[in-house]
Amino acid sequence: MEYGVVIGLEVHCQLATNSKIFCGCATTFGNPPNSQTCPICLGHPGVLPVLNRQVVEWSVMTGLATGCQITSPNVFSRKHYFYPDLPKGYQISQYDKPICEHGKIEIVVDGTPKTIGLTRIHMEEDAGKNLHEGLGDVSHVDLNRAGVPLMEMVSEPDMRSPEEAVAYLKKVRTLMIYLGVCDANMERGNLRCDANISLRPLGQEEFGTKVEMKNMNSFRFLKQALEYEIKRQTKVLDEGGTIVQETRQWDAKRGVTESMRVKEEAHDYRYLPEPDLLPVEVPQAWIDEIAKTMPELPDAKRERFVSDFGLSEYDADVLTTNRELADYYEAAVAAYVGDPKTTCNWVMGELAAKLNEDGTAIDACPMSPAQLAGIVEAIHVGTISGKIGKTVFGEMYGTDKTAKAVIEEKGLVQVSDTGAIDALIQPILDANQDKVDAYRGGKDKLFGFFIGQVMKASKGQANPQMVNERLRALLNG
Ligand SMILES: [Zn+2]
Repeated sequence: MEYGVVIGLEVHCQLATNSKIFCGCATTFGNPPNSQTCPICLGHPGVLPVLNRQVVEWSVMTGLATGCQITSPNVFSRKHYFYPDLPKGYQISQYDKPICEHGKIEIVVDGTPKTIGLTRIHMEEDAGKNLHEGLGDVSHVDLNRAGVPLMEMVSEPDMRSPEEAVAYLKKVRTLMIYLGVCDANMERGNLRCDANISLRPLGQEEFGTKVEMKNMNSFRFLKQALEYEIKRQTKVLDEGGTIVQETRQWDAKRGVTESMRVKEEAHDYRYLPEPDLLPVEVPQAWIDEIAKTMPELPDAKRERFVSDFGLSEYDADVLTTNRELADYYEAAVAAYVGDPKTTCNWVMGELAAKLNEDGTAIDACPMSPAQLAGIVEAIHVGTISGKIGKTVFGEMYGTDKTAKAVIEEKGLVQVSDTGAIDALIQPILDANQDKVDAYRGGKDKLFGFFIGQVMKASKGQANPQMVNERLRALLNG
């Protein structure tokens, strides 16, 4: 039997606010356990939560960026469950009136665009963390993370392959970075994702029973876990079995998913409106104000790079997927507007390769956009060839020298003087009389040999176009 795959994702984004969602405690990562807590986030009786305004603004901004409707008023609810990292016995979340609904996210897989529905975005608090490792046979609880703001983005079950799921998660991450609302550091769990996956016989409308996979914190794990689950569920169905609705987790070491618990239904959580927080009114005037502070988004930036700088869709897509890379490119083009396409080639080619080799991120790049633009300019106006540009790049990288200074200092100015080029060519012709005769006798292919010899003799500094012209003239003359 052939099956179709149905996937929906729930992405948890930890918002990059300075303080927690309902109290003034800091959200700094990596401080000693329980050093960032107070009676509110410790869940003491009688305390009252106060909503962090920034959390609302950033959630609205994310909603606007994904074409959502903003719900006003939206309502916080208590989601009840017991776990040692949740001292109150409930998590403050949103249930039937989330802040954003009915949005969409565009993805591209193998060049094909697709729209994935975004069911809702809601605000909630994170739980603490249970620590088990290195403590012998006891476990400890760290509540620094309790009350850190989360934004949960729930998609429609619109994805049909692991590749689409990965493209969706990448797009969400790019959006978060552009909006500046979440650090989106997946290793630290700033961005984590649960996936719902089910199979159904090809041609069947009705969804099969879904399995939820928890807490995947890398693109690779998401893809591997989904691929494993497709195989596992296919086998169960082929053998006439039924899929159990359950929560599973990916064991990266063993490369398998394993059952954690039978999946709860929403009613198991006994949701009820949070009596300590008022419904959140979001008047249109506030939404307009937030919209004004919104940065340019990746899709808009990509289109602008194509129309304003004449880049290909592919180049524009690579540049804009990483906001810092796009910023770097734009700064370089601003420093020299003469040749945006060559600037793009240098950013994505030589520079990216060097950064990759050194393991340096673009925002820590030791070469400024203006420095790189200096190389592009020198090539574009003919002071140096593209090949010498690479030498200049190597000399400049990690220093604060300009391209102009390096070209002068090293005497790398391109030779474009007819007399000087002829003086390079003649000794080569003299030393290779046999080849000259062969060329004149019809062996056209030898032209490349002469070009190579002349460029070598000039140490790459001769203007290639002029070498071409002069060589042709002298050989044919
Ligand atoms: Zn606190």
